Amino acid sequence: MRIGVLALQGDFAEHLAVLRRLGVEAREVRTPDHLADLDGLIIPGGESTTIGKLATTFRLIEPLRRFAGQKPIWGTCAGAIFLSKDVRREQPLLEVMDITVERNAFGRQVDSFEVDLRVPALEDPDRPLHAVFIRAPLIESVGKGVEVLAELPSNGSPTAASAHSGARARIVAARQGRWLATAFHPELTDDLRFHRYFLAMVEGHHGGE
Ligand code: GLN
Repeated sequence: MRIGVLALQGDFAEHLAVLRRLGVEAREVRTPDHLADLDGLIIPGGESTTIGKLATTFRLIEPLRRFAGQKPIWGTCAGAIFLSKDVRREQPLLEVMDITVERNAFGRQVDSFEVDLRVPALEDPDRPLHAVFIRAPLIESVGKGVEVLAELPSNGSPTAASAHSGARARIVAARQGRWLATAFHPELTDDLRFHRYFLAMVEGHHGGE
């Protein structure tokens, strides 16, 4: 199995390190030909506007969309934003996953926080997943065919601005077929279950539709 990590900006090195720890062949992706013979791709956290601009400059937008049409992709934080169809502002997006994302949803005063999540889809589902949120987005809403994998617990975690306005906006991990989005950073902890979950998605994926 060969997994690429989009290495334009952000914390791609941490994802590469986790993949190598798991014994997977991992490669940095900076140009369209780096996508050849990959079985899956991770788009890291960072700054989604920068990732989008660099992807445009390096003519990666269309090749990435074609890749998404065939193979599994996982976006963490800025990567999840870049994968989404809608962020309600102008910036280059892959417009792949049917999710609406609110960037920087937790405001400046709580740029970062950590919280234990319940993620029933992971192995050992009763063990909480310690999740790191850094100027994190929130998945505000999901389309049909998108499975919600995790939501913020109602106690002990910051409230997003949109939740104040009555919207039920607490989704932090979702999957739509071969696409996965997490608002937090599993590559920054020692709990490798989310990486293993993605590798199992890649393993189980046979061709595009
Ligand atoms: N705030 C960043 C953005 O909007 C995402 C932060 C992150 O990836 N940790 O792109």
